[in-house]
Amino acid sequence: MYDLVVEDATIVSGWEPRRVADICVEHGRIVHVGDGASGAARARVSAAGKLVMPGVIDGHVHFRSPGHPHKEDWASGSRAAASGGVTTVLDMPNTNPPTLTRMEWEQKRALAAEHSRVNFGIWVGASAGRNDAINELMDSGDACGIKVFMGASTGPLLVDDDTLVRLFEQTRGLIGVHAEEESVLEVLRTRCSSVEAPNHNVVRPPVAATIAVRRLIELVEAHLRPVHICHLSTEAESDLVEAARGVDRRRLPITTEICPHHLYLSADLPAAFGRPLENGATTASGNWIKVNPPIRDDADRRAMWSAVQRQRIDTIGSDHAPHTMAEKALPYWSAPSGIPGVETTLPLLLTAVRQGRITLERVVQLCCEEPARVFGLKAKGAIREGHDADFVVLGEPDLRPLTSDDIVCRVAWSPFEGMPMVPKPDAVYVAGRLVASHGRIVDDDVRGSLTRPGA
Ligand SMILES: [Zn+2]
Repeated sequence: MYDLVVEDATIVSGWEPRRVADICVEHGRIVHVGDGASGAARARVSAAGKLVMPGVIDGHVHFRSPGHPHKEDWASGSRAAASGGVTTVLDMPNTNPPTLTRMEWEQKRALAAEHSRVNFGIWVGASAGRNDAINELMDSGDACGIKVFMGASTGPLLVDDDTLVRLFEQTRGLIGVHAEEESVLEVLRTRCSSVEAPNHNVVRPPVAATIAVRRLIELVEAHLRPVHICHLSTEAESDLVEAARGVDRRRLPITTEICPHHLYLSADLPAAFGRPLENGATTASGNWIKVNPPIRDDADRRAMWSAVQRQRIDTIGSDHAPHTMAEKALPYWSAPSGIPGVETTLPLLLTAVRQGRITLERVVQLCCEEPARVFGLKAKGAIREGHDADFVVLGEPDLRPLTSDDIVCRVAWSPFEGMPMVPKPDAVYVAGRLVASHGRIVDDDVRGSLTRPGA
């Protein structure tokens, strides 16, 4: 007997034509896609006339737990994810303690298993002298990848070039990289230190990212290790990667991620959105959008859209990195970098679909199919027999300004407040259970499970 049949869904995938079918679910898995009328079912819902896509896999979130529950924890972060159609998150290691060893990894796994309303994977962080611990977590198939910070960002996980080389030589599995060259950042930090409120894109300029990406490409050429470059933000980086991958895109095992904020915000545009603050500022300006790598100038922002449209980018991740409003209201040198975003990724991309910038099929590639491929999540990313029953029923595509009421994550603000966008999905299913509907959590008892590469 089926646990659930979603009837007459118009199923969207990245490469196949849309088709109308019933999605039949048993024990959290999709067991049949086709005609489900004949089988008995505990529950049937109609999706007639509605588009249904696979749940979004967000390969890049910072749920801040353990360590900083006033910013986010696994319950609040995963509720935000589910509300926005994200059914799997991969959490970054710069928590407190950082996720560097089996013990710390298990500590985070226990928190996520107890509290996460969506499926989860856990990155292990790279740091000097820890390669054995990394290999143990990678060879067992537990960690979803090794995260490297080439430039200092939130937390103590910066690695120098020697450590980076040894990582390429001694470890196994996917390496995810925050690519900004620390020596450039150091010089600029010193040079700008007397300026009270410098432009973050000057303090962490595009050249820091290009130098780091160039170095990474050398390392991939030497070691042929799969590398996923996080948050590409400039045209120059995209050009370097494109040249390195060659015409068939397969010369080197490099994949790339882009974040919605680098597609929608720019350093030299007046902030049209965000929550209004005093002095005419909004949460889409100043330190509120201080993030690493920085919000770039508008030429780079446009180039990143072009890269997405021309299939130069493999995945979209939110880099959901929440800080409280009080923390973000601090002066430039004290305000932390990072902005929340896990729940606005899909609404923003569906808005781009509505505006004719990209197709819904391309969104499914970027948010579902390609992340599943890059991270080796074989039972995710598609609505197909044998796959996990994580899917999203889309609603009306009419735009509506995002309000503070729509925001679910703990810090309760977004740089996109006020922006007209497609509302959150009608229904979000994790392992065949309805977790969220119209942006609200409707079943708070659902728990996701650990997702491991190769499974
Ligand atoms: Zn990040």
